Amino acid sequence: MDRDQLIEHLKFAADLGVAGVSRDPVWRARADEAALQPIQGERGGIAVPMEQDPPSTAPAASESRHELTFARNAAEALAAARADLGDCTRCKLHTLGRTQIVWGVGNPDADLMFVGEAPGADEDVKGVPFVGRAGQLLTDIIEKGLQIPRQDVYIANVIKCRPPGNRNPEPDEVESCEPFLFRQIDAIKPKVIVALGKFGAQTLLRTLDPISRLRGRVYDFRGAKLVPTFHPAYLLRNPSSKREVWEDMKVVRDLLKLERRP
Ligand code: URA
Repeated sequence: MDRDQLIEHLKFAADLGVAGVSRDPVWRARADEAALQPIQGERGGIAVPMEQDPPSTAPAASESRHELTFARNAAEALAAARADLGDCTRCKLHTLGRTQIVWGVGNPDADLMFVGEAPGADEDVKGVPFVGRAGQLLTDIIEKGLQIPRQDVYIANVIKCRPPGNRNPEPDEVESCEPFLFRQIDAIKPKVIVALGKFGAQTLLRTLDPISRLRGRVYDFRGAKLVPTFHPAYLLRNPSSKREVWEDMKVVRDLLKLERRP
């Protein structure tokens, strides 16, 4: 933009009632950061970022062009995010034997969301998170422990495709996929997020602290309270740690009660 165009641009902004330009870096965030934040619209709608053209060259989510479109509710915002994900080829996992993308499952208006690591073999086949042995234990934690029907919560993973041989997700895979988890969180706006296991908790909280140090505390995260706990797969190998998970679930229960108070 040359000087004259800049002057025209500022005059146009002034005509619209813009009184100045902030030097605050927060106001200078560009589409890839700002557009991924939900914007509460009129009548409770949500502005969601949309990729304009189906990406033939599969750019990372953070690189793709975005335009704000209007979702009237969480279900629509989630559907828009899923549509943008498409038949994703953003990272190498699509070449490494995935059967399908495993998006997320549950109530778009859930107060409580669980975030795991990545789909395993069972999830890869069924296309639904947490449906194997670890998933059955998670269902018990939700239904027998918290006394909430599984379909009333929302369950997703940081990574939406199965890493080969259940290896840990790699940093480039997290970088490509994480914006879609954030869009799920921003659409659902849960009151409480349970991060399941070391990988989910470390990724969301941007830390390398071990899960044993992360759990036992409540964190603020994207407008929600985040409670890290042990992964159900870890509990299958270490049943004695169920006691700590139960302590964590009591915290979750209390947070949900607190948040429900008028
Ligand atoms: N482990 C995870 O982290 N996610 C699943 O969906 C299944 C097992």
